[in-house]
Order: sequence, then C-alpha cells, then structure tokens
Amino acid sequence: MPGGATTRAFGPKGETRTVPDTVARQVWVAAGGRCTICNRYLLADNVTGQEVPIGQLAHIVGWSTAPGSPRGDHDFPVEQRNSAENLMLLCHDQHRVIDHKSLWEVFDVDTLLAMKRRHEERIRKLTGLGHESRTTVLRVVGHIHGRPVELTSASVTTALLANNRFPDSILRGADEFEIDLRAIPGEPISSLAYWAAARNHLEDGLRHLCTQVRKEAVNHVSVFALARIPVLVLLGTYLDKMLQVDIYPKRREGKKVWGFDDFGATVRFGSEILRVGKDPTRVAILCSISGSIDINRLPPEVLDSHTIYELRPNTMLPTPELISTKAALDQFSQAWRILLSTIEVDHPGVSAIPIFPAVPPAAAISIGRHLLRAAHPPLHIYDRAPSSPGYFFTASTEA
Ligand SMILES: [Zn+2]
Repeated sequence: MPGGATTRAFGPKGETRTVPDTVARQVWVAAGGRCTICNRYLLADNVTGQEVPIGQLAHIVGWSTAPGSPRGDHDFPVEQRNSAENLMLLCHDQHRVIDHKSLWEVFDVDTLLAMKRRHEERIRKLTGLGHESRTTVLRVVGHIHGRPVELTSASVTTALLANNRFPDSILRGADEFEIDLRAIPGEPISSLAYWAAARNHLEDGLRHLCTQVRKEAVNHVSVFALARIPVLVLLGTYLDKMLQVDIYPKRREGKKVWGFDDFGATVRFGSEILRVGKDPTRVAILCSISGSIDINRLPPEVLDSHTIYELRPNTMLPTPELISTKAALDQFSQAWRILLSTIEVDHPGVSAIPIFPAVPPAAAISIGRHLLRAAHPPLHIYDRAPSSPGYFFTASTEA
C-alpha cells in the first residue's frame, strides 16, 4: 500500500515531505486506514468509488522550526519529526483544521498525541475481535459393532476449514487430544468390562484437556467422535459447560466427510409421557430420534411403577438423518433440557434415570453435555443388545 501518495506528508500550504515506506506503513496500519479524528475510511474515495488513498500523514510537531510550521516550535528533535510517533493519519479536512493557525493552541501537541494514542488503541482492540479461528481438535474413535472407525487428519482439517476454524494441533505439531478406544476388547459383545474400560480410557484421555481448559489454554473445542452411543453420552458429561464446543458429526454420504449440512428442514422435538407409574421417584426416558425405542422391550429393571417419558420429533418419524443441521441439534438440546427440568420439578427424589437412547452421535454428546451433575440425577445408559431385541445397561454418568 505505501509508495506514492501514501508515503507523502503534507504541510499547511500543500508542500510535501516523503517519509520512509516503513514509517508510512506503520502509521497507516496502526490507524486502521481511518482518520484519527473523524474515523473516515481513507482508502476508498466515497464519491468516485475508486480505491485511491485520500488519507494524509500529518505531523504532530511540524517538520521545521520555522514560524509557519504548526507546533514546530516544540522541543521535539527535528531529526525525529518524520518518525511514526510524530505522524498521524488524517483525512484532508481534519488535516486542514489542525494545521490552521487559529487552532494551533486547540490542537496542541499533547492533545494530538492523546488522539493518536486513543485511536490506535481502539483500532488494535477492534481488529483483534471478530472471528476467533483457533480451535482444539478432540478426536474420539471406537469400534461400532465390531467395525473400526477411521478418522484421518486430512478429513478433520477439511471440515474445520469449511467452518473457518484452524486446528491448533497444527501449531503444536501433535494430536494431543485423541482418545482411541479401539484397543479395548469386548466391544462386539458389549461386556460390562468393555464399558468400564472405555469410561476409564475416556477419563484419562480427557484429563489433560480439562487441565488445559482450566488454565484457559483451550477455549474452543471441535469434537470429532464416532464410537458407541453410551461412550458419546459419557464424553458429553466430561466437556466443561463453559467451554465452546462444535460437534462434527460423521456424514453418511457425499464429499464432505464430517460436519453438519448448512441447510435443512426445520425439525422440532418434544417429550410426552407414555406411561404414568405409581412411584413418582422412578422415571425412565426413551429417546426415539434416529429410531424408535419399543416400550415393550425394556429390561425387567424398568418396572410398572416407572413413569416413562419419550423424547421424539414432533411431527415426523424418527430417522437416522433427522439431526443433519446445527439448528436441528440445538432444537434437540433444547427439548432435552426442558425434559430434564420437567423431571426435576415433577419427580423430586429420583436417584437415577434409566435412559434408552436411539440417537445420532451428535445428540448423544449433547445428552451428556446438558446434564447438570448438581441438579439432575445420574443417567443409567442402556444400549441395544448385540444379538437380541432387548436393551441392557452399559454405564452410569455418576461421577
Ligand atoms: Zn477526518
């Protein structure tokens, strides 16, 4: 940008001095290309629409000590008067004002220096705002019904860049936050030992992340997770409530491997009571989102005395593609929080809630994330049995 018109400093009678490129660039950048006094943007000419710089570099202490030089009698060394600290960026109009002889005392050196400092501080602060692009990638990979899940760095980075996010693992040079559950045996048969080991592994893997969050070294996390649903619910409970989290679901088809659709049909969710039980301290939840949970196939520990709530789409049938946009996930999360509050109010004294989640992975993470350990009873997470039509207990969110 500097060179030509941008490196010239103008005097009160139109005479010019050329300042070094580096100095001009410093002043233009520090001022954000805007007039220090009226904040006019100085690169585009508003009248012609041409991108001609209309800003001027103005001397705070005039460049010579001669009587006609504005504020030139100040004791600031003459040889330093073309330095960035003595130059301010102004529009033509304001420049004429400050250099007009009748106003030299109004726009004295201290006043102009204060204006310059205020303007440059404001520009620096404002241009630092906006889109914080840095994110920490958390990858959680497990087997799903015996099949391993692949999650390559390239597909993760592609998904992040599409969302204007930049993974800080590239800066750090390591995938610090990858939790790989694939080495844990017992997933296909869903043994209780598998769920206990998966939970320990998850806790271990997230300990470092939680430390970084507490130290405020991490404030945005992008979650790429594909594992069994109970693992994902647990994962959600470990993600700090204050942390900003973007969830990237694995897509079923198309070129984009991870991430939500940008647009999609509006989906709303709500809950209803399927059965009122005699014991108000016993509640179970069916989440029929990607598929329907059959109330007749609940395990024997869910008794006739349990009140059974079902969370499901309001006007559609459950399908695996139902939560394909971030808006749909937000709708789901909202309905889930409402259900939790309803249970909190209507069923005081509940000690644990059996939950049967037929949900996509992103919703599973949200279920855990919106559970408040202080206010809500722990969830006992059930999953479909591998070789029978029933459901069985996997893990509890109890700390
Ligand atoms: Zn101006």
